[in-house]
Amino acid sequence: MRLTNRIYLVGGGWHGFGLSHTLDCHVYLVDGGSEMALIDSGVGLEPERIHANIRADGLDDRKLKYVLLTHGHADHAGGSNYWKQHLGVQVIASAEVAQFVREGQEDSIGLDVAKSAGFYPADYHFQACPIDSELKEGDTFRVGACKLEVIETPGHCAGLLSYKMIDGGRTYLFAGDTVFHDGKILIITVYDCNLLQYMASLRKLAGLKIDALLPGHSSLVLDRGQAHIQKALDCLARMLMPPNLL
Ligand SMILES: [Zn+2]
Repeated sequence: MRLTNRIYLVGGGWHGFGLSHTLDCHVYLVDGGSEMALIDSGVGLEPERIHANIRADGLDDRKLKYVLLTHGHADHAGGSNYWKQHLGVQVIASAEVAQFVREGQEDSIGLDVAKSAGFYPADYHFQACPIDSELKEGDTFRVGACKLEVIETPGHCAGLLSYKMIDGGRTYLFAGDTVFHDGKILIITVYDCNLLQYMASLRKLAGLKIDALLPGHSSLVLDRGQAHIQKALDCLARMLMPPNLL
């Protein structure tokens, strides 16, 4: 599903638009012309549906060179190995997330808790995947003609990266599970969800003049994205946590 000249939504499930498996996060594709990247990989169940969406959008999958992970939760990172096996992509993440995904320890990504909460079937297993390089705050990553700037936004979990991209005079934020439509956030009861880090990460997003807020779930915001981020910041200013997405 084409969102802009450069950005497509190629996957997303129950908390998205039903483009692919119900457990998939939003999977975005950045088309840099000579090469392309996915932002997050989906859960890894029926990844061929995402693959088919890429082709149905008229894109050449041989140009898909990278998967940039926002974080290690299974709905975002579980499909990484599929893209590496089928298209030989480089998988890229923060150092913390790289360790989780390389080792595939389910308790390190809160999958044990998420399974017992019923979010994943008991027979689902996270597929570990080699990570090719690691990113940190302030790094920039080129995907053909597109340049993504790395913003560390931990809090929802450890090692979460958001990616800012400026294209055609507009500013996009791939926010992972940091901030959503209407200023919602996603606090969950896993060991590495950290409220103080979460607040600091939200405050880092102040003043970025985001046009399009492209989060990991729920509605997409194609214009005035900063107003949605501001709504979360306004809650913090009143000594309250913003409302939770779930
Ligand atoms: Zn998450």
